[in-house]
Amino acid sequence: MRVVIALGGNALLKRGQPLEAEVQRQNIQTAAAVIAEIAENHTVVVTHGNGPQVGLLALQAEAYKGVNPYPLDVLDAQTEGMIGYLLEQELRNHLKDRQVVTLLTQIAVDPHDSAFSQPTKPIGPVYLKTEAQQLAAQRGWAICADGDGYRRVVPSPEPKQILELATIRLLVEVGALVVCAGGGGIPVMITPGGAIGGIEAVIDKDLAAALLAINLKADALLLLTDVEGVYHHWGTPEAQLLREVTSTALRQEHFAAGSMGPKVEAACRFVEATGGYAGIGKLEDGAEILNGQRGTRVQIGGYGARNYDSP
Ligand code: ADP
Ligand code: MG
Repeated sequence: MRVVIALGGNALLKRGQPLEAEVQRQNIQTAAAVIAEIAENHTVVVTHGNGPQVGLLALQAEAYKGVNPYPLDVLDAQTEGMIGYLLEQELRNHLKDRQVVTLLTQIAVDPHDSAFSQPTKPIGPVYLKTEAQQLAAQRGWAICADGDGYRRVVPSPEPKQILELATIRLLVEVGALVVCAGGGGIPVMITPGGAIGGIEAVIDKDLAAALLAINLKADALLLLTDVEGVYHHWGTPEAQLLREVTSTALRQEHFAAGSMGPKVEAACRFVEATGGYAGIGKLEDGAEILNGQRGTRVQIGGYGARNYDSP
């Protein structure tokens, strides 16, 4: 089978963990072991999030006043390099005879996407209100309230076209394990004349993973994160793990924007476009999620098919 595996930014750097390189390397060892196990029997393409990492780079850029902070598309490219490098090294340690390659991946977005007039994705540090207002005026940022403070918010446009798709296909066909479209890809716009230019945005990595899996005609899409799977009534005492569910049934429910929402949307898009299946669950359970023993399995079908874990 051809399997696209999407690793959550939080699976690579767990909530509350210090943003140390060593901590990340250890988490990546877990990820690499899971990917390697699946890659023994399947063709695997890996993609990953970059939320905590791009936030760290933004903080580091903030600390040095000698130059203007680098634009987000450049920071996105840096996280693709950083996470890709760590993953590639660990994967090579597990899969000695396999070519493993990380590919910087640009993803075109529509310059008229409504996300550009309604930025929603918070990034970087939390500021005091006055500080945030000052920065917004100086740098033309959009800001919004987040918890006790204020944060910069950036557009999160729809991923439209993977520019390196032909290269990814080529690498997959010669048997390489490809790490690509990291952090949702590097957002770019294409001018009517065909010129490519970076744009300050952060594409949702789950939606980028769905586009990648659809474009590669994958058989399965695994969205690996830090929860068992998709819960019905999440955050309430009645919370129940959905074990098998159809995209039709999932689309009837609302899931949290910015966390489970995009995963559910990505899973639905993928299964509806390809007839394949999607698995959502814990990073450590990757192989079992693929064979249906753990996590939430999403397939196409009518309203009825929905199984819960027995309590
Ligand atoms: P990632 O970095 O892997 O994309 P996210 O934080 O974006 O991680 O998404 C996973 C988180 O989604 C979980 O840790 C959980 O707190 C949250 N979540 C929100 N709604 C649900 C739900 N219905 N079922 C399970 N988890 C949910
Ligand atoms: Mg997420």
